[in-house]
Amino acid sequence: MGAQKAHGVILRKYLLRETSYILVVYTREFGKIKGVLKGARNPAPQFAGNFEIFSLCQLLFYRRKKTSLDLITQCEALEFYLPARKQIERLTYANYFIELIDIICNENDPNRAIFGALVKSLRLLSSGASPKRTARIFELKLLEALGLSPGVQECVGCGRKSETGMSFSVSSGGTLCSGCAVKDPKSFPISAGTVNFIRRIQSSSFERTGHIKVSREVGVEIEKLLKAFLEFHVNRQSRSMDFVKHLEKAGMA
Ligand SMILES: [Zn+2]
Repeated sequence: MGAQKAHGVILRKYLLRETSYILVVYTREFGKIKGVLKGARNPAPQFAGNFEIFSLCQLLFYRRKKTSLDLITQCEALEFYLPARKQIERLTYANYFIELIDIICNENDPNRAIFGALVKSLRLLSSGASPKRTARIFELKLLEALGLSPGVQECVGCGRKSETGMSFSVSSGGTLCSGCAVKDPKSFPISAGTVNFIRRIQSSSFERTGHIKVSREVGVEIEKLLKAFLEFHVNRQSRSMDFVKHLEKAGMA
C-alpha cells in the first residue's frame, strides 16, 4: 500500500524516545488514526510548529500491517486557530472538543460530519464567537453526526405536538408532553427558549449557527441538559469540562 493522504485534527501527541512523536489524529478520510512521526524533534524548518494539538494538518502516512501505529511522514499545519490558543477559556474549550472526539471515536471509523463539526467549531471558537455558545453548537452538531440528536419536535413518548409545559427526559432522548412526563420521574421542565435554541441549531447549517443568539437563562439550561445528555448517551468523562467548572468557581471564566 502506498502513501495515504489525509486532512486531520491532532487530538493528542506523545513524545517517543528522543526525536519522535506519536500523534493521534482525527482525519476526514480515515477517522481516528494513530501514528509515529519520526525526526519531528529535530529543529528542521519543515516541522516547526506543525503538530500542535487541535491544529488542522495535511498528512502523508503509511499504514503498517504488523502494528496499529501508522508511519507518518508528513504533517503540515493548514489551520492553527491561534486566537483559541491565546485565551485560556477558548483554549479549554478547544481541548474539550478534541478530548470528546477522542473519547467517542474509535480508530479507522471515518465520519465526515464529525470531522466537519470539529473543524467548524474550532473556526468558530477562533472567530470571537462566545466560547460557551460555540461549545453548545459543537455538542448539538456532534450528536447530530452520531445520529443521537435530542428529539425536540414533538413528545418522544407519544408523538403529540405541544408547545407549553414541556419536560425533557435524558433517558427517553427528548421532550415529553405533560401526560408522558408524569410517568418519567427523572424528567424535568424545559423552557420554550431552550427547545427553540435546539431546534434552530438542528435546522441550521453550521455556517448560520454563529448568528443564533441565546439568553443567559437558556445558556445555563442548555449547558446542564447537554451535559446530562452526553453523559447518558455518549458516556464521557471529561477532565477539560471539570476545569471549566473550576475556572467558573474561581470567577475567571
Ligand atoms: Zn407524550
